[in-house]
Amino acid sequence: MTWEDGTSYLEELAPGVYAFVQPAGGWMVNNCGVITDASGDAVLVDTTSTEKRNRALLAEVQHVSAGGPRIAVNTHSHPDHTYGNGFLPSTTTIIGHHLCREGVLRAGLAATQELPADYGDLVVRPPDVTIDSDITLHLGEFPVELQIMGPAHSTNDVGVWLPEQKVMFAGDLAFSGGHPIFLEGSMIGFREATRRMRALEPAALLPGHGPACHGDEVGRVLDALEGYVGWIEELALTSYAAGLTPLEAAQKAVADSPYREWEEGERVVCNLHRAYVELTDYEPSVRLNIPSLWPEMVALNGGPIVSHA
Ligand SMILES: [Zn+2]
Repeated sequence: MTWEDGTSYLEELAPGVYAFVQPAGGWMVNNCGVITDASGDAVLVDTTSTEKRNRALLAEVQHVSAGGPRIAVNTHSHPDHTYGNGFLPSTTTIIGHHLCREGVLRAGLAATQELPADYGDLVVRPPDVTIDSDITLHLGEFPVELQIMGPAHSTNDVGVWLPEQKVMFAGDLAFSGGHPIFLEGSMIGFREATRRMRALEPAALLPGHGPACHGDEVGRVLDALEGYVGWIEELALTSYAAGLTPLEAAQKAVADSPYREWEEGERVVCNLHRAYVELTDYEPSVRLNIPSLWPEMVALNGGPIVSHA
């Protein structure tokens, strides 16, 4: 199975280290990681958004490890990465940033109303163990580092780094083939996170959405994301000076955007709202959250935004 045929698949990034990749990577369709050691233990990186998708993920984990995951890491609190926590065995310990736990509890199942899909019987389960600085998990033969990399895509981003295999599970600190979104967290922090990941020189990187990256492609994808932040930053400065709202600025810019081939172009308006806040004394009339910005994204998209979860 490949990215092109549209079905989820497991891809080995290093011996015993897997990406669970879900095409086409759009709204609520994320990727997860599965890290196994010789003793058969497994660490899962993120869950996914619906019951059906999570059952498929756990079936794949069973194929490559002796049992259910011993530990699951949430890279951040967003529902596409955490709704499946409730399907994990009670014996699985879930680790996340302390703001991830808060975010999961605060958000509840609200996203099921905002982005309708066949979610199944979801149960909210936040991380059991919370961290606010880097920690290292020691599997049988190698370390797994949980690095605090936010605020960036969210307030609570954790990158999962395997220094021996040089594999990075980036969560939504990276996207491939689609627009990143820095609605909350920090656009400047997002750029910093891409630089930090690049400095680690990963041999493979799994973005939160989009296909896995290998070799030189990792640097290219991270450089493109950094370039994208610069583009939004520049666009925000000139558009704000010209008195344009973020929506007006986005509508003017998208046709000639150097990133127009990337999916989810409607996110440009969200990112401009964030950029206006970070680069100016802009006081948005709407709160920066998905429900309040949804009408602007629909306007920019020229029609409803679909979730294929
Ligand atoms: Zn995501």
